[in-house]
Amino acid sequence: MKNIKQQFPIFKNHPDMVYLDSAASSQTCQATLDAMNEYYTNYRANIHRGVYPLSEQATKAYEQAREQVANFIGADTDEVVFTKGTTESLNLLANSLTKDLGPGDNVVLTRLEHHANLVPWLEASKRQGFEVRYIELNKEDEISIDESSIKKVIDTNTKVIAFAHVSNVLGLTLPVATIVKAAKAVGATTVLDAAQSVPHMPINVRELDVDFIGFSGHKMYGPIGIGVLYGKKEKLNTLDPLLYGGDMIREVRYDGATYADAPARFEAGTPPIAEAIGFGAAVTWLSSLGMGDVLAHSQQMTAILVEQLERVEGVTVLKSADQLASVSFTVDGAHPHDMADLLGNRSVAVRAGHHCAMPLMGYLGVNATLRASVGVYTSEDDVKNLLKQLQEVIEILT
Ligand code: PMP
Repeated sequence: MKNIKQQFPIFKNHPDMVYLDSAASSQTCQATLDAMNEYYTNYRANIHRGVYPLSEQATKAYEQAREQVANFIGADTDEVVFTKGTTESLNLLANSLTKDLGPGDNVVLTRLEHHANLVPWLEASKRQGFEVRYIELNKEDEISIDESSIKKVIDTNTKVIAFAHVSNVLGLTLPVATIVKAAKAVGATTVLDAAQSVPHMPINVRELDVDFIGFSGHKMYGPIGIGVLYGKKEKLNTLDPLLYGGDMIREVRYDGATYADAPARFEAGTPPIAEAIGFGAAVTWLSSLGMGDVLAHSQQMTAILVEQLERVEGVTVLKSADQLASVSFTVDGAHPHDMADLLGNRSVAVRAGHHCAMPLMGYLGVNATLRASVGVYTSEDDVKNLLKQLQEVIEILT
């Protein structure tokens, strides 16, 4: 990952910036910017409609982007739906997968879910009357999830198990295979929130063997406003669309309509065309780095962060099993927001707060945390600079 910052224009404009907030949103690589610029300057047109060359070129580029994303995760192209992001993908799933559920049924989540994989299920539960259950965390020195905790909450009335692949707060990598096995044993549908894993590791949907996956382009060096809903082919077409309108129909009459198969079924209206094309470029660029190397780099940077932060007096790191990319920590006697504010003034970008996982904060017994998270451009120098500034800010605040 040497010299990789050069492929991100933002670092030319902010040469001193220590950007450790990639879990919130990564920076955009040049390949993405070039692809989007090319669309807007050379062949901007709507897709799937026009028969003139510009529109045909745009349609081809949009569908090629779908192919690039499908290749990136080992899926077929018609299993990849473009959405606005993980949040939209999960909302669609929570709406549709629960429409026949009722009292007596249950949906299983974990204690560490992002609001995007929690609130839509809670809303559906309010409507339908099913129970929402949570897989507990093992809160030892290193936070983890035990097989026994998984088995404890799943029973024959479990219809859906929806869980993060990697926690955006703790960086904990969840035991996907164990959860999928438990789900299969009771015939439950599996939903994977992969917003924090797809940017950092090789993903093969056949190996993961979950039914549905959601992730976002803006966390993996692509544009903001584009994401993916992946679904196993035979399952995807059983879902109801979230949006209805143009480009997703099979036949429309004055008294009703029938709908196209996936992916068109879920892409009503004019989609974010430039963003899809930019996303395709991002995953192709990311693949060119070698996802094995990307993972090794993220693991190394995460380990260095944990190790260095633990050495600072007054700092408590929320360590987790197979920790990847995100490191949450607290500082005795200092509020995370004050810390992040002062660090920000010193060109160090870290996040403070509940990280869209409010219930998890209470569960872990903290009000908020600071979070440093890494990307392909994160270097040991970034970590060193964070540590230097952190120590000075702690001096000021405590
Ligand atoms: N799930 C997880 C684990 C996340 O980290 C995020 C983004 N912070 C989301 C879901 C939501 O993603 P988006 O805002 O791109 O829809």
